[in-house]
Amino acid sequence: MIPFSTITPIEYLKGVGPSRAEVLKSELSIYTFGDLLRHYPFRHIDRTQLHKITQLKPEMAAAQVIGRLVQLEERGERRGKRLVGQFMDDTGTMELVWFQHIGWLRKTLTVGAPYIIYGKPTIFNNQLSMTHPEMESYLPGSKNAGNMSLQPVYNSTEKLKKFSLDSKGIQKLQVALLEAIAAQLRETLPEYLLRRHGLMPLPQALEAIHFPANQQVLRHAIHRLKFDELFFIQLKLLKNKLLNTQRFKGHQFDSVGEKFNQFYHERLPFDLTNAQKRVIREIRRDTASGAQMNRLVQGDVGSGKTVVALMSMLLATDNGLQACLMAPTEILAQQHYHSIKKLLGEGIASVQLLTGSTARKDRRIIHTQLEDGSLSLLVGTHALIEDAVKFKNLGLVVIDEQHRFGVEQRAKLWRKNDIPPHMLVMTATPIPRTLAMTLYGDLDSSVIDELPAGRKPIKTTHLYEHSRLRMFGLMKDEITKGSQVYIVYPLIKESEKMDLLYLEAGLETLQQEFPLPRYRISVVHGKMPVKDKEFEMQRFIRGETQIMVATTVIEVGVDVPNASVMVIENAERFGLSQLHQLRGRVGRGAAQSYCVLMSGNKLTKESKLRLETMVRTNDGFEIAEVDLQLRGPGDLAGTQQSGVLDLKLADLTTDQALLTEVRSSVIEVFRNDPQLDNSEHILLRDYLFRREAGIQWEKIS
Ligand code: ADP
Ligand code: MG
Repeated sequence: MIPFSTITPIEYLKGVGPSRAEVLKSELSIYTFGDLLRHYPFRHIDRTQLHKITQLKPEMAAAQVIGRLVQLEERGERRGKRLVGQFMDDTGTMELVWFQHIGWLRKTLTVGAPYIIYGKPTIFNNQLSMTHPEMESYLPGSKNAGNMSLQPVYNSTEKLKKFSLDSKGIQKLQVALLEAIAAQLRETLPEYLLRRHGLMPLPQALEAIHFPANQQVLRHAIHRLKFDELFFIQLKLLKNKLLNTQRFKGHQFDSVGEKFNQFYHERLPFDLTNAQKRVIREIRRDTASGAQMNRLVQGDVGSGKTVVALMSMLLATDNGLQACLMAPTEILAQQHYHSIKKLLGEGIASVQLLTGSTARKDRRIIHTQLEDGSLSLLVGTHALIEDAVKFKNLGLVVIDEQHRFGVEQRAKLWRKNDIPPHMLVMTATPIPRTLAMTLYGDLDSSVIDELPAGRKPIKTTHLYEHSRLRMFGLMKDEITKGSQVYIVYPLIKESEKMDLLYLEAGLETLQQEFPLPRYRISVVHGKMPVKDKEFEMQRFIRGETQIMVATTVIEVGVDVPNASVMVIENAERFGLSQLHQLRGRVGRGAAQSYCVLMSGNKLTKESKLRLETMVRTNDGFEIAEVDLQLRGPGDLAGTQQSGVLDLKLADLTTDQALLTEVRSSVIEVFRNDPQLDNSEHILLRDYLFRREAGIQWEKIS
């Protein structure tokens, strides 16, 4: 007989017949022994921590009590219907209340029987109670109760409960499972890593996460399993990186020639910062290596990414190749186009703009010039990926604000050539290190961690509605000095539910406070035709209007160095990274700049923390860390599409140190044994190899 293993179908487990197997599959995606093994408990009941009813206090998060259910009755009608039990120990009585599953509970609970219950104590109508406590029969002196000081609690569902697969039922299956396969479980990591990182062996960890002897063992088991989750993600990412450079030859940019130097010596209106120089050197080194470049450039708003992009594009031009820059919005593409054109001046290289609103006639000309090679640089939006756009020889693709582009779109650009073009991905959304490692582990990364000289840190204040006049005062002072002001609103259309100050209403107040002809106001919002938006933007850019009232369309990339004030209305409605992006629209010139966060009086704890963070720091990376802690990785840029964040135990907000440790150990493994040939790495190689064939890793353990 073939021994049971982690790939054995779940129906072969003792206690699981065809019908239970069906619900395990449909409800929990448990198909195999291995899947069940990886259905970890979400907590453990600590049998050693017990309270008496008189000790319970509403401040307690949760408590466990042993007692007897002495009464059970339904109360209320229809929607108010509930099941109320009286629960008693030798010190007192409390109420247990259920609003759901009343019928099922009536059938399964026994009045008069002893139970061990777990839940949050509350006081309701002066009466101590617990709502929806976890209930479990208590058998004093029984083998189970005495043995297991930490009892696992599993997620279950209503449907599973119908098949007696509540937490307790699943626990029984886990016992049977471990009996069947414990001896078959194998270690996956090489011995030296276990020793170096003090890791519990895998078979032991898999058993202990379900049935730990004590809290310390449980912690060790969880640590080991988290290490595994992160390790195998990193192994795959870093291997891809390794193979990518081996597999894909890239254009070799041998000559840093004419155009790059001409631009540098004759056109560049400022000195590059050291950080810009370093990143350009890194790009030069990559593009001269003969392998295809995949590089992520992170630079805070205002750090000067555009010129880095342009100079990289000129490297391509110098080598007879074309380059394109893709931006996520029409306005941003236009902005890039204008600033690149201005920086380049005449005669260095030809550049065109291609967006959704480019006229057909112009579009055809651009297509032709791209195909015959007479056009060297192209700036645009998604329109660049359309099939009709063909390059004669595309050498470099720059993607700005990459989180708005999916991986698939990146790949599409990538396939526009026989030799894949070099890819430069630029983002102004600082990505916390842990996330960057997990999401972009396959990209090399550069950081522009320096702002151009002479920039003064932006002064940020948070004002409540009653201080609005102070804000108007600041605006007037700055406008009198010749500066310009942005006012940003979160929404354009009125929403009855939210107590917002709307752009339209705000505009009326503004027009009274800042009357013509002394003051001129531009308005840009998402519902306007592109042509009008562009017209208004240009008026503001040329300094013909002093105030720009906008919704978040200006959030990314717009560059007006003369603007010195950013007012954000209803700032509490914005996320942290959005606030930081918006603030980055000012502080681009040498003058002192200001950011004013306007908010209502009622703030949640979280929105208060966001605004405080903005006032405290200008550092985008620090802000991103706070954002990650507030929102979790799932909400951060780009994570949804990645699929790599399918973590059961590890948590990128709290396990940063562990991730760093794991990553360096993976790098070390590859450094010592690039092809994973050593016998101690066989399992790792196996994992990578089979994983590629679409097989889950459980199947090799
Ligand atoms: P971002 O990184 O946010 O895209 P930009 O590329 O738009 O930043 O640059 C912001 C502003 O700083 C622009 O006006 C640009 O011309 C200017 N700038 C860029 N690099 C330097 C530098 N080294 N010294 C002075 N100004 C610079
Ligand atoms: Mg930019």
